[in-house]
Formats: sequence, structure tokens, C-alpha cells
Amino acid sequence: MSSTQTHHDVDVVVVGAGFAGLAMLRELRDERGMSVRVLEAGDDVGGVWYWNRYPGARCDVDSTDYSYTFSPELDEEWNWSERYATQPEILRYVHHVAERFDLRRDVTTGARVATATWDDDTAHWDVTCEDGTTARGRYLVMATGCLSAVKRPQVEGMEDFTGQVLHTADWPREPVDLAGKRVGVIGTGSSGIQVIPRIAPEVAELVVFQRTPAFSVPAHHQVLSDAERAALKLSLPERREMLRNSPTGLSVPVTRRGALDDDDAAREQHYEEQWHSAGFGFLLAYNDLLISHEANRTASDFIRGKIAERVTDPALAEKLSPHTYPYGAKRPCVDTGYYETFNRENVTLVDIAAAPLTRATATTLETADAAYDLDVIVFATGFDAMTGSLLKPTITGRDGVTLQEHWAGGPLTYLGLMTAGFPNMFVIAGPGSPSLLGNVMVSIEQHVDWVSALLVDSEAAGTPVIEATEEAERAWVDRVNAAAAPTLYMEAASYYLGAEIEGKPRVFMPYAGGLRRYRRECDEVAREGYRGFRRSPEPSTDLQPA
Ligand SMILES: Cc1cc2nc3c(=O)[nH]c(=O)nc-3n(C[C@H](O)[C@H](O)[C@H](O)COP(=O)(O)OP(=O)(O)OC[C@H]3O[C@@H](n4cnc5c(N)ncnc54)[C@H](O)[C@@H]3O)c2cc1C
Repeated sequence: MSSTQTHHDVDVVVVGAGFAGLAMLRELRDERGMSVRVLEAGDDVGGVWYWNRYPGARCDVDSTDYSYTFSPELDEEWNWSERYATQPEILRYVHHVAERFDLRRDVTTGARVATATWDDDTAHWDVTCEDGTTARGRYLVMATGCLSAVKRPQVEGMEDFTGQVLHTADWPREPVDLAGKRVGVIGTGSSGIQVIPRIAPEVAELVVFQRTPAFSVPAHHQVLSDAERAALKLSLPERREMLRNSPTGLSVPVTRRGALDDDDAAREQHYEEQWHSAGFGFLLAYNDLLISHEANRTASDFIRGKIAERVTDPALAEKLSPHTYPYGAKRPCVDTGYYETFNRENVTLVDIAAAPLTRATATTLETADAAYDLDVIVFATGFDAMTGSLLKPTITGRDGVTLQEHWAGGPLTYLGLMTAGFPNMFVIAGPGSPSLLGNVMVSIEQHVDWVSALLVDSEAAGTPVIEATEEAERAWVDRVNAAAAPTLYMEAASYYLGAEIEGKPRVFMPYAGGLRRYRRECDEVAREGYRGFRRSPEPSTDLQPA
């Protein structure tokens, strides 16, 4: 299935074959009768679940909720084995979907898109890939992922290191043997928190380099019994309806009271119950944890108290406790035995906020005050989130303006779906959409349905050139900013804000108004004849020669 430097002339070029790209392909091809070519940089479909093969990688949303909803037959035949599926199981699911719906025949793998250029005369996108593959389509859908551009921090001397260097988001396809090795892990975000407890028992020594401690709550992984699976299947229609109409796309009951509405004892008991069941949904324990400092402090204190219980050395517990930002302002983590890992004899925590990493040598990683002998260095440093994968290729819209130029001050979108000056280009689960602030799968499916309906409507109306107006874009960017302004999201150096990447514009990128409100807004826009979109007929292609 690898690329053979071919050219594809289709209705729609989709970039990326993760959950979003495959859903778009199926919907447009099988439900809407359009021809589609998906271009994928990786050697197979799967997106993040193809790339992130590190030990311990799993979803942190219940597997049942992190699944496609378009096919009752698929629901019926697929059985998730655990509450939170592991990476291999999710990848098997993607492969199953690709085979069951015969998707691979329209996917070109090993094709990393380098350029996409709008041709105003013919109203087409011309796409080129690094391997020479080219494609031309009337529509371009960027399904390139909100967490897919890998962040690789520069450490001086890294090229001199003679051991193995790995990145969680680009983990080798072949098995990696870490047994008996001295391993350094840089980063304690979601990926670090998953990989650290998994590898600690097998390695000789584990050195964890932490810049910012994370808030993490127990995931409560569990293998699903046949009875639990059967019950889940029975509840699916109701559960799906609830997800679609919820603000987060999570099947966690939202508590309709604030943290300070309960007295201290009741609040403690409520947190205790949530701690033992909610997993990722702990953030919804009260409805004001992300808007009130005082409320948030009760949750942050509770989690810090739990860290102190889980880590035997009080000084170490304190180092692992976040104090510089409110709980939830960065993507919350869930874990299995993360903090307890630091009670092990073979695990060392290094605070690189206090003594920064200075350089690597042939055999060591060095901080300002110590050197650590290592055989393997694992970067668990995450991503250039939300805009990274959109700004890597050169996308050129109307009048030769590139997306890099248009977004120089931060991403500008209308509904997170289109950007002015880039006709017929759609983005799935990117900036300006709720995407990363909830269950991304729910956003993906909403976008796919909505964009497909817009394409069909426009084709039928004879107006297949679609563009977000600048006014609509400005107004939406204001809405995105206004939704984030009163929240505590603004108080952490998070990837939501672009703060993880030096020099990236500091703007809050996802839409924080919630999935439910977002869905309603999109439906309203459609009902009002796609308000905020300019639609025009395709230019006549039988131009007279000059
Ligand atoms: C380890 C991990 C765990 C996660 N867990 C959860 C979770 O539990 N719940 C949740 O809601 N979200 C989770 N996410 C977020 C995740 O990004 C989304 O859930 C979802 O998988 C995104 O799907 P996608 O298809 O939009 O993007 P991706 O899966 O990122 O797929 C994008 C694809 O585009 C390809 N691509 C990018 N640029 C180019 C290019 N220039 N040319 C060609 N191809 C290109 C990439 O190779 C990739 O295959 C997790 C992310 C990670 C990394």
C-alpha cells in the first residue's frame, strides 16, 4: 500500500489517517458518494495509536466512549477488553475498522504532505508529498491531529550520546528491551506518567527528569467482564446520546454544585468517592473547579494530600506536588501507580526546574549540578499541540498567503473548521474547536458529520466554493477568547496556550465553551444557511486560451 509516486485526482484530499481522517473517508465516500484520497505520513493507519507505542500507552477516556458511533454492527461485533484500552488494542480496533469498511484502498501511506496550494482559477487544491506523491481535489481536509507534531527539545550534545534515544510519540515498531538498563525519562506529562510506572520494575535504574509536576488521579483500569461488556452494550444508545449532549463528551455524571456548596466533611467525602471511581472525570467533581480559585484550591489540596499519602518520603512528595498552576489548567493526568513508583529504590526524581538540563555527553545526561549515567534516554516531551501539524506543511491559500502568515499571531478560525482566505480547506479537531478539552472522538464525529453535510448542501446548491468570511472568523476568535477568559485555563503554561513551545504565540487555542454549546452553535449556523460562510459557484473551467 506504500506510495508509488502516483497522482490522485479526487473530489476530496484528506491529510491524515487517524480516527478523524478515516471517519472523513468513510462518511464522504460511503455515505455521500464522493471520491476521496487520504494521504498519511506513517506506514499504516491509526494516527496517534500508530505512533505512540510506548509501554503503558492507553486512552484515558472509557474505551466504549472512545469509539466510532456510526455503525451499530461495528458496536455489536467489537468487544473492548478493558475500561481504558491499551495502545495495541486501539490500533487493532482501527485496523478492524479499516478492513471492515474497506478503507485502506483509498489511503496512501508513507506520504507526508509537504505543500498544499489553492488554485483560484480552477478552484482546486494541489497537494504534494515528500515522496513525490501528488493529489488534486476540490476540497482539502486537514485531519492531521491535535497531538501529532512531535516536540523534540534541543539538548546540547545529544548527538554525542552513544546510548539509545527514544521518543514516546515516535516509539519503534520493533520491541524495545529496557531490562537491566539505566534509563532516563524526560517529561512528566500524560505520556511520562503512563510510561514511568510501566518500565520502572524492569529497568536497573530509572531517572525521571521533571520540570513541572503534574496533578494525576488514579485511572482505575479494569478488565471488563463479559457481564460488564454486555451491560455496556445495552446502555450504548442512551450513553451515546448523553455523550453527544454533554459539555465534555465524557460519560461522567456532572455534579451540579460548586465545591463550596458542600461543607468540609461532605466535600472531602465527595472527593474521596470520586477519587475511587472517576478517573479522568475527577475534574468534574464540582462544576466550578475550572472557574473559581477557591473551589479549585480544595481539589488541588485534596490531590496534593493524596500525593503525600502515596509517596513515603515527604520531601519527595513535595517535589512531586504541583503548586504553580491550578488543577485542570493543564490536561489532567490519570495514572496507575505513578506516585508510588517513586518509593522504589531504583527510581530517582531530578528537578530540572531547580537545576536545568545542561547537556548530554557520550554516556550521561547532565543538569546544572549533577551527571547521570544512562544507557537509554526517553523523551516524553509531548507535542507542538493543535497547530504544529497544520503549520509544518506549507499551505498556501488565496493570493499566495500561507497559513504560517495568516496564523503568525496565533490560529484564526471560524468554528475551528475553516480559516478565511483558505477556501474549501477544513480542519478536523483543530484550534477553535472543543477538541482537546474533552473526548476528542466526539468532536471528530461532530466535525465529520457537519462538514460532510455542508459539502453536500453546497454541491447541491451549485456553490461548491466555500470560505469563512473574515468577519465570521474575527467573531469566532473573539468567542474562543471570551470562553477561555474567565477560566483558570489561562493560568498554566500549557499546550492549550502554546506555552510548551518557545516562540509560539500565547493564545488559548481550543474552544472552552463546551461541546454541547459548540454543537448547538454549529447546528444553528447550518440552519441559517451556513451563516458566516461565503459560498460561490465553481469558476468555469472552459476558459478561452489567450
Ligand atoms: C498517547 C495519547 C493518548 C491519547 N488519549 C486520548 C484519550 O484518551 N481521549 C481523547 O479524547 N484523546 C486522546 N488523545 C488525543 C488524540 O489526539 C485524539 O483522541 C485522536 O486520536 C486524534 O485523532 P486524529 O485523527 O484527529 O489525529 P491523529 O490520530 O493524530 O492522526 C493524525 C494523522 O495525520 C498524520 N499527519 C500529520 N501531518 C501529516 C502530513 N503533513 N502529511 C501526512 N500525514 C500527516 C499523522 O501521521 C497522523 O497519523 C491522546 C493522544 C495521545 C498522543
